[in-house]
Amino acid sequence: MNCPYCGYTDSKVIDSRDVNDGVRRRRQCLSCNARFTTHERLQSASLFIIKKDQRREEFNREKLLGGIRRACEKRPLPTGTIEKITDEIEAGLYKLGKAEIASTLIGDMVMEKLKEHDYIAYIRFASVYREFADIRALKEAVDNLVVMPRGQAREALTPRPDKGTKNQKTETTVKKTSRRSKTHVKRA
Ligand SMILES: [Zn+2]
Repeated sequence: MNCPYCGYTDSKVIDSRDVNDGVRRRRQCLSCNARFTTHERLQSASLFIIKKDQRREEFNREKLLGGIRRACEKRPLPTGTIEKITDEIEAGLYKLGKAEIASTLIGDMVMEKLKEHDYIAYIRFASVYREFADIRALKEAVDNLVVMPRGQAREALTPRPDKGTKNQKTETTVKKTSRRSKTHVKRA
């Protein structure tokens, strides 16, 4: 994996941790020293999605990630949240142990997760995923958002801080420039 900051091709592993569906590695770029995380997973057995028109399509993580990312665009979510939601849904799907899963089930899982993190992202996803077929449910969701007292609405719009994304956060080195102020030039 190339360094996401400078594109250099080599990095060293500084920490390695097993997660339920793979290995998470903290790496440090050998060129710019930036740190980043890679997530290596076993290639799972193929999983097919049954679409609404009954066609089958192989499960595509990137597609799932893209849909969630679009819903969360410009929302104040902590770094790594979108990937974490995608990981959780993917792991949940494989855990079902089925060869085929209805697309509606995935949609429901995404909505459930988004609702926990960000209400606006949830509404956006719901409006696309349900294709306005279920307009009443969508309207109810929006109405609930509007009539909510201020504090609650704010809470609903703010991602919960306790959704431990601490470990996924990309650490970048912050160079301190505090010394500059001490060497103030005195005027004669
Ligand atoms: Zn680099």
